[in-house]
Amino acid sequence: MDFTRLRLSGFKSFVDPTELIIENGLTGVVGPNGCGKSNLLEALRWVMAENSAKSMRGSGMDDVIFAGTSSRPARNLAEVTLTIHNNDRSAPTIFNDELQMEISRRIERESGSAYRLNSKDVRAKDVQLLFADASTGAHSPSLVSQGRIGSLINAKPKERRKVLEEAAGISGLHSRRKEAESKLRSAEHNLERLADIELQLT
Ligand code: ATP
Repeated sequence: MDFTRLRLSGFKSFVDPTELIIENGLTGVVGPNGCGKSNLLEALRWVMAENSAKSMRGSGMDDVIFAGTSSRPARNLAEVTLTIHNNDRSAPTIFNDELQMEISRRIERESGSAYRLNSKDVRAKDVQLLFADASTGAHSPSLVSQGRIGSLINAKPKERRKVLEEAAGISGLHSRRKEAESKLRSAEHNLERLADIELQLT
């Protein structure tokens, strides 16, 4: 499963539609300070369903939308699309038949984000699970942002375990367990409510 293309529009400093082709092997992005190198990595994390505005260096998620400059007005919409090739069929099982996947996230000012996977509307959770099952994602240790090395060295054992778990490919199972536990809690709650109603009727 290879990331092959990242398309951005209206995202942070990338106001005009911009396409980054990711070839096989090593890709380097070079440029002067402030030209947008970190914004590119943030776009990748964002399309993988990053939900913390703080980790996108903003105070709210709308801050990822182009905020305007002295010569260009602000935008109300940002969109990032990630193309993934699955020639080796290593994508999580439900996508095994797809040779190419396109995941896009779009945000409109004050309206929140919407995700699409191969042109179908999906939830943030689906996107997170897809990447977690593929042992990657917005919080993957393989995305090394500034200051990350220092924080890993100083990390507590529990945080270090997360890195090992991702390497072992079990992060997706944790998310599924959380979802299953929450469904179980809500079913238990419903059963209790039902028991109350039954009691009232007898
Ligand atoms: P460095 O080499 O110093 O780390 P960099 O190339 O990684 O820099 P970034 O941090 O990616 O640069 O980009 C910073 C630029 O992005 C700044 O000029 C900032 O004004 C611009 N920027 C960030 N958010 C927005 C936004 N919402 N709208 C417009 N421009 C933005």
